[in-house]
Amino acid sequence: MQTARIAGLLALCLALTACGSSTVPESGSGEFATADGSPDVIGDGEKLITYLVEVETGVDWGDVPRVTPDAFADEITGIWSDPRSWTGSAAHPITAPEHDLFAASWRFQRVSGPDRDVRIRLATPDTVDAHCAATGLDTEGKYSCRFGDTIMINLRRWLEGSPISPSISDYHAGVINHEMGHFLGFGHQGCATPGSLAPVMMQQSIALDGCEPNVWPFTPDGDFVSGPSQI
Ligand SMILES: [Zn+2]
Repeated sequence: MQTARIAGLLALCLALTACGSSTVPESGSGEFATADGSPDVIGDGEKLITYLVEVETGVDWGDVPRVTPDAFADEITGIWSDPRSWTGSAAHPITAPEHDLFAASWRFQRVSGPDRDVRIRLATPDTVDAHCAATGLDTEGKYSCRFGDTIMINLRRWLEGSPISPSISDYHAGVINHEMGHFLGFGHQGCATPGSLAPVMMQQSIALDGCEPNVWPFTPDGDFVSGPSQI
């Protein structure tokens, strides 16, 4: 596993011009383009969450692979389509009284108009930092955040991953599940027991505290991976 992870990091380094430096643009226009909506509802959970998907415009992509709103939306669809994501709550409803959740479960539908529950925005580091800082959150040019009904995803990490993620797709699942988890009502959680899976609501890119990296709310068996609440 360690070997695979090192190999993954090496591949990531080779994919970049120089490991440790980034070619992802720091800033864009601050405006956003919206992905098309979809008639498809993903999952069978009780509560429908409608979401808008947006990507910042005015990004000078250069040699960086361009991310379109529809491509970003497709990745999110893929994440919800995995039963280990929040859609797994349909088969395994979540009760968390500390978050006012009682047998809670969710299903998801992408919309393109203003009538939505939450918006998921992919933006350059400067734009993420500006929006998140406006609500008191310091994203340091690398983290993503959620405030109110808005999720801001850092474009650099979206393209390059995080040092602790074995793969880009793992990073994508982790950051989308984590930030949507905030919107669904969850705060941060800690590592329950060293050696166990880290809750997706743990800030894993900061510290793992002995837990194993994990990017999904549920295990393949449908167990909700949680840990002690943190402020
Ligand atoms: Zn968080």
